[in-house]
Amino acid sequence: MFDRASVVTPGGVNSPVRAFRAVGGTPRFMVSGTGPYLTDADGREYVDLVCSWGPMILGHSHPEVIAAVQGAVSRGTSFGTPGEGEVALAEEIVARIEPVEQVRLVSSGTEATMSAIRLARGFTGRAKVVKFAGCYHGHVDALLAAAGSGLATFGLPDTPGVTGATAGDTVVLPYNDLDAVRAAFAAHPGEIACVITEASPGNMGVVPPTDGFNAGLKELCAANGALYISDEVMTGFRTSKAGWYGVDGVRPDLMTFGKVMGGGFPAAAFGGRGDVMAHLAPAGPVYQAGTLSGNPVATAAGLAQLRLLDDAAYAKIDAVSAELRSLVGDALTKEGVAHTVSAASNMFSVFFTDEPVRDYDDAKKQDVFRFTAFFHAMLEQGVYLPPSAFESWFVSTAHDERAVERIAAALPAAARAAAEATA
Ligand code: PLP
Repeated sequence: MFDRASVVTPGGVNSPVRAFRAVGGTPRFMVSGTGPYLTDADGREYVDLVCSWGPMILGHSHPEVIAAVQGAVSRGTSFGTPGEGEVALAEEIVARIEPVEQVRLVSSGTEATMSAIRLARGFTGRAKVVKFAGCYHGHVDALLAAAGSGLATFGLPDTPGVTGATAGDTVVLPYNDLDAVRAAFAAHPGEIACVITEASPGNMGVVPPTDGFNAGLKELCAANGALYISDEVMTGFRTSKAGWYGVDGVRPDLMTFGKVMGGGFPAAAFGGRGDVMAHLAPAGPVYQAGTLSGNPVATAAGLAQLRLLDDAAYAKIDAVSAELRSLVGDALTKEGVAHTVSAASNMFSVFFTDEPVRDYDDAKKQDVFRFTAFFHAMLEQGVYLPPSAFESWFVSTAHDERAVERIAAALPAAARAAAEATA
């Protein structure tokens, strides 16, 4: 299948990390998923610790989500008109996340962050955007600039195809460094439209904000007339009922969502302060649109999933995550492998270093070759981890005792492989 795919699709995949380039080997083609398990095209079953990179927080093929989808599909798949499902999903988001007074639905996290930035620029009449090295906000041109972690470094495009002019209004700063943010505001008075940050980063591995970092960002933005945008595409509806906002309580001006809120379908959103959202077309002048925005099948899936995510569900996910973190840590310690298990609520990842990891530069100092050996040993034993040392691991309410036991059984050999790996 990978050979076939490689003929008709660049690199054989529709999103780069799926290709296993960071770890080597051939990506698994999955044909079905049930609860915490995935089955590949060769009939092998895996305990899934990727959960579609976050969305599948109830596990695969949850009966109530599937029933909602089937019900929606039977009524038609897209109307291009307003519909009740999108209103109900928006109401659910507004009810859960207090700073969100109004919300606009889109189809991907990339669209959400792209639109939030356009809105911030339109609202403030300013051009510059501050982002942090190691934070990923989708493949928005202006946000594919993470190079350079120096103070107030002007963004250099990370990829051909993004012009210097596009990235030139992006200021890239080291994560968890409020002094750098202060210096950027001082260097560009009246020019910064917004600061965008992952609410708690999961795209350089899991690197939570240090105490007071998000609150400091909010304060600096408010003092300098810029908007504070919290990207909750990954953390939203996962790290608590109200996402990371439910953890740290720092009130953003705008927020972005995706993943969990789509129930495994393409649905995402951005929202926040009513006076800012009022600038969006057709209420205001900042243009934004989408043929499939608020799609009835996607909104039905998302709403069904959110309605099942009550306090008990989060308690369960948090408990499974804690158990896995301690199992992984114990296995690596037993083999004498330097490591740090880093967690933000129930999101976690393992850095193969015992040095503290506070930003992207720290994260890059880990022994990636040990992760590679660990990854393949787990895969061989039927545990599907993210195929990169710089990604969060995700669990679901479906990860029961049997699934955890299977992971526990695979860990000793994987930890040994990590210990024996050479650069
Ligand atoms: N923002 C964050 C924090 C993400 O983790 C991602 C995707 O992983 C995105 C934005 C982009 O979302 P999408 O892949 O749906 O475009």
